[in-house]
Amino acid sequence: MPTINAKKLCNIHGFYVGERCPICVKKQNKAYDVMRQKDKKKIYNSKRWKTVREIVILRDNLLCQQCLKDGFESIGEEVDHIEELSDRPDLAYDIDNLQLLCRACHVQKTYQEKSKRLDLTK
Ligand SMILES: [Zn+2]
Ligand SMILES: [Zn+2]
Repeated sequence: MPTINAKKLCNIHGFYVGERCPICVKKQNKAYDVMRQKDKKKIYNSKRWKTVREIVILRDNLLCQQCLKDGFESIGEEVDHIEELSDRPDLAYDIDNLQLLCRACHVQKTYQEKSKRLDLTK
């Protein structure tokens, strides 16, 4: 009998096929996300963040830095962590790690980073 099809038993969720119980994995990831969201909220609500954010907006002349690189001028709306906050919480308030982005660029970057992260966990 090939080992790939061997069923294993999760104490909580019963039998499953594969490396780990898929329901347990899903629950763990969710808990991790919730925790991170809480940490982020704390940062984004802090006085220190609001000050740093203002500095970055002025430094970047109110323009989206990604659009500038691509040869456009768009009004930046969101201050982005170049090295993601979840990877480098120590750089949360580091002006060198912050850039002003328009909403479209920010969504794009977040999406790209998310899919990269998913690839890594495969
Ligand atoms: Zn399980
Ligand atoms: Zn942009």
